[in-house]
Amino acid sequence: MTQRVAIIGAGPSGLAQLRAFQSAQSKGDDIPELVCFEKQDDWGGLWNYTWRTGLDEHGEPVHGSMYRYLWSNGPKECLEFADYSFDEHFGKPIASYPPREVLWDYIKGRVEKAGVRDYIRFSTPVRNVSYDDTTKKFTVTVHDHINDRIYSEEFDYVITASGHFSTPRVPTFEGFSTFGGRILHAHDFRDALEFKDKDILLVGSSYSAEDIGSQCYKYGARSLTSCYRTAPMGFKWPENWEEKPLLQRVDSNTAYFADGSSKKIDAIILCTGYLHHFPFLPESLCLKTDNRLWPLDLYKGVVWEDNPQMFYLGMQDQWYTFNMFDAQAWYVRDIIMGKIKLPASKETMTQNTLEWREKELKLKTAEEMFTFQGDYILELIEATDYPTFDIEGVRKTFLEWKHHKKENIMTFRDYSYRSLMTGTMSPPHHTPWIDALDDSLDAYLADEPIQKAG
Ligand SMILES: Cc1cc2nc3c(=O)[nH]c(=O)nc-3n(C[C@H](O)[C@H](O)[C@H](O)COP(=O)(O)OP(=O)(O)OC[C@H]3O[C@@H](n4cnc5c(N)ncnc54)[C@H](O)[C@@H]3O)c2cc1C
Repeated sequence: MTQRVAIIGAGPSGLAQLRAFQSAQSKGDDIPELVCFEKQDDWGGLWNYTWRTGLDEHGEPVHGSMYRYLWSNGPKECLEFADYSFDEHFGKPIASYPPREVLWDYIKGRVEKAGVRDYIRFSTPVRNVSYDDTTKKFTVTVHDHINDRIYSEEFDYVITASGHFSTPRVPTFEGFSTFGGRILHAHDFRDALEFKDKDILLVGSSYSAEDIGSQCYKYGARSLTSCYRTAPMGFKWPENWEEKPLLQRVDSNTAYFADGSSKKIDAIILCTGYLHHFPFLPESLCLKTDNRLWPLDLYKGVVWEDNPQMFYLGMQDQWYTFNMFDAQAWYVRDIIMGKIKLPASKETMTQNTLEWREKELKLKTAEEMFTFQGDYILELIEATDYPTFDIEGVRKTFLEWKHHKKENIMTFRDYSYRSLMTGTMSPPHHTPWIDALDDSLDAYLADEPIQKAG
């Protein structure tokens, strides 16, 4: 009987899984029956922008954490699919830091070409997954919002690709209940123009703080103050942006910091990270981890060691993104299709995982971290027919990118890099990032700035 595979989520990871199976099929393999359940009404995961915050039209927690004017935070050359280049998709070389809509278009292009949309049941969140030890099958229960129907189906394998940047980690600070301005988590940030002419406090020192702060600067915030728990981000900030040690408390309009200083503020944006959150999974199948390069309990970063019919994609902290999800998806596909044999015992898998964890614990610098993740990807790719690509080249591009950010956090997106897939050199963009206020696909792909009428 044909085996059945449930994929939870049609973001870049879930789509990589569909493409991996379709690729095997196009080479003549029989593939299992695939069903991908997607909570949103379109594909692309976080890249499928929504204006909504809080709950969606069906009362589901909004998945989207991306905002207007978001541009890639790393060179596109580091995330390019090895089987579908930017050149192929856009038909011409494009600049290195595309805005969200452009990357969404690229993600969609590959799966449209592969013709996998019919595998996806949209507006259908997974509510529950259970496993029967006797039948060795999963029961997946979902809510079909289109027909408002809850139903269950049986599967031989479950692949969780539901992302981990959607459930905000929200701390509180003394005085928050009586603060006179807006307090929001980065998950609910949508439009920097809301903060034009305002004094903004960003709590946190990771990508969200760096990027949301930069957006607010670009779109006219009066001042930015970011505060850190362990270390400052340490970039050369514009003169209206300062970094402070951790927030201690606020009153109705002022924030007080650990060094005794204070600052009048209008709004607080909590850039305090996200939780791995799988409310649809039972304890026995549920990954528990913080955001790190080597979560435990996942053999090769993808196989649930307690039950190797269960897989996770994209659960690591992410230097690499799209092509790492591909490497994982191709690997998972080959396990399911019997091309890759797993170790006979759980102990052997766990032993391997612990060896990776030991290496992870020794990593100190950013360079060591993305080298580690590159080594991991290479190991997966070598085991499958995913096209081999120049991981060492990606590593060097990451290094240049770090250097450009250090040089000037407001101009690093103006640099261009060479594709590691096609060798094409990216052209510079027609407008420096700081001046490019229109982030639409049309504006980005135009050969010169689009003049607006009026
Ligand atoms: C603000 C922000 C900016 C980022 N910027 C970049 C960037 O510039 N470059 C980059 O490479 N990466 C960036 N990322 C990283 C991002 O995580 C990845 O690019 C990518 O989107 C991860 O893909 P994914 O499929 O694993 O998860 P997601 O994109 O989160 O997709 C998961 C999918 O699962 C669905 N889902 C969730 N729960 C259920 C359920 N119960 N039932 C059914 N479906 C469900 C969701 O609706 C969603 O479609 C950014 C992330 C954030 C939050």
